[in-house]
Amino acid sequence: MNGTTPMLFYADNLACSSDNPAEFQIGDKELLTAVAEVLVERLASEVTDLVPVIDSVCEEFPELEEQWGRGIIEDLAERLLFAEVVPESQRLTELFGEFNIRYFYGCLSIHEVRVVFDPTRIAKNPASGKISRSGFIDKDEVRIYLRYAERSSMFRSLLESMAHLVTGLEDDGAFSDQLRWLAAQGAPLTAGTIEPADRDNTMTPPLALRIRSHDLLGRSGTSTEFESYDEDFLNSVASYAVELMNLCYADGWTTAEQIHADDPELADRWGWGQIEALAESLLNAEIMPLSRIYTELFAEYNARFFLNCLPAYKVRVVFDLHRVSGEPIDMLAASSGFIQFTERCIYIRYTDDFRLTGTLVHEMAHAATGGEHDEAWFDQMRWLKAHGAPVPDWELADAPDNQRSAAGGRA
Ligand SMILES: [Zn+2]
Repeated sequence: MNGTTPMLFYADNLACSSDNPAEFQIGDKELLTAVAEVLVERLASEVTDLVPVIDSVCEEFPELEEQWGRGIIEDLAERLLFAEVVPESQRLTELFGEFNIRYFYGCLSIHEVRVVFDPTRIAKNPASGKISRSGFIDKDEVRIYLRYAERSSMFRSLLESMAHLVTGLEDDGAFSDQLRWLAAQGAPLTAGTIEPADRDNTMTPPLALRIRSHDLLGRSGTSTEFESYDEDFLNSVASYAVELMNLCYADGWTTAEQIHADDPELADRWGWGQIEALAESLLNAEIMPLSRIYTELFAEYNARFFLNCLPAYKVRVVFDLHRVSGEPIDMLAASSGFIQFTERCIYIRYTDDFRLTGTLVHEMAHAATGGEHDEAWFDQMRWLKAHGAPVPDWELADAPDNQRSAAGGRA
């Protein structure tokens, strides 16, 4: 063993398909650890046949072979092939939750992670998800199976599986974009293993969220106006509209114009009229799963940071909060967040740079202190930051008596 796997194996830490813990009470702890480590090492180098595994154990640990015999070693190795490493499953399932919030807006549906010796053997339903040497997504069971390995490589497999949940199961351009994007956000993906971008197009960062037509609530109050659009087309137009909103302002016409300039192929394929209409619809739309998540996050932060003293607010995540809320655009820059005190509603403009949580905290500080960026608001923000709320440094950079610039104006 190369020493990168710190885990000691105990029968209690392992589970098997029959849920019978006695399954691994073969030999003793020393034997279990020896066989498990050799197995992990061999499976990592793509050996799936048990004979060389048993040979290695007997070679490396002749005293164990003498004590227990080859038959016992074989029996144990065979059972381990179907084993789950339970404490690692728990850790990685927690980590899924953390990565989900940190890198995916909490948008992925909660998957249980199971760390097993051999995902290809454990997988019950290979047709329902992606299968590879190191990971497997079972969509029906809402589970991710990861091959037991050293931590950093399990982190990577977990993030890859999560990226697949966003982009689909193919190893395509969208998937590598997503990985590059995750790496750029500081996600623990081993550097140097991510392919360089095959295009240099700064206008279309990968949307962290794959938007589905039924996730959107349009002007009609339903998602019907989005149903007829191809999903890739919808996501492309959305990423242009989001980027233009980040820069200043977007409407159907400017979005179509930008796509014509940057991606004539896409423009020709769908036509100006259709692009313009879709962009208009999107800019009036709310992204329902995000609204749900951020409304829940409001309640969570209210309990964690505000002693539940804030009244309940509804959070609506939208592409253009000015259109949806009716609040006029201020000084030619789109706001990131907006609070309506009487309606008890917070609007958050969807961006793909993961600032939504920070915007929510900003608006919650307003809910506590009022609509101004005054001393009380800054005190609140400082307190929140000191207590672990996601408050970026730039929020506190301005002195209380300085009027905030339009770009940061969120009241
Ligand atoms: Zn504000």
